[in-house]
Amino acid sequence: MTRRGLLIILSSPSGAGKSTLAGRLRTWDETLQFSVSATTRAPRAGEVDGTDYFFVSVPEFQDQVAQAGMLEHARVFGNYYGSPKAPVQTAIESGRDVLFDIDWQGAQQISNSALQEHVLSIFILPPSITELHRRLVSRGQDAPDIIEGRMQKSWDEISHWDGYDYVLVNDDLDATEMQLKTIISAERLRRSQQPQLVDHVRSLQSQFGERT
Ligand code: ADP
Ligand code: 5GP
Repeated sequence: MTRRGLLIILSSPSGAGKSTLAGRLRTWDETLQFSVSATTRAPRAGEVDGTDYFFVSVPEFQDQVAQAGMLEHARVFGNYYGSPKAPVQTAIESGRDVLFDIDWQGAQQISNSALQEHVLSIFILPPSITELHRRLVSRGQDAPDIIEGRMQKSWDEISHWDGYDYVLVNDDLDATEMQLKTIISAERLRRSQQPQLVDHVRSLQSQFGERT
């Protein structure tokens, strides 16, 4: 039996661990498709166009929005970000789950979209603010002023924690990874994810009929 794909949204304040967890999920299940966002921000060292993001100009981004090519879009840290719609539709119709690393604004838009019954939204909290700061520093990716900007923004992101289906405190990485896998495995069995059950139940019904 084939199933419908889920739209799995991971959000968190920057540094709480969502990219690390998303990476582990993709190792666990290679069929998980990562939604590659379009962004107007400049690429960081090592980032690859088409893999990490589609790096586009502001007019290119606006064009895509005007042509209804984005499932959601938002302004984050002064740049535009959006999730292209077409790859998501193709994936979920062929039974593949799509993983989104997007902020609360995008999560809210997708959760209120026509695809809402297939959405699984998960928010990742840090164990403490001190640890969040430590992780941003230890990641070694950003200059101190950028880290300060991310810390300033983190409360805004955390304040939207209650709009998600599940909320995990990412203290021990292995434990959080296990919790994520448990949630995804269960949610794949949602009735809305198994449209072919209708035919199966009809077949059971006719088998019942044949017995009488
Ligand atoms: P985000 O994608 O949410 O911005 P990252 O996944 O880049 O965060 O994680 C930030 C840093 O914290 C990385 O260096 C990562 O290895 C580390 N990290 C993630 N989760 C944990 C954890 N549970 N315990 C300790 N360090 C962690
Ligand atoms: P970064 O620039 O550090 O890669 O991402 C900054 C923030 O933008 C993160 O919180 C990330 O989740 C969010 N983000 C990345 N892509 C998208 C997207 O397509 N839509 C939305 N709404 N947020 C995104």
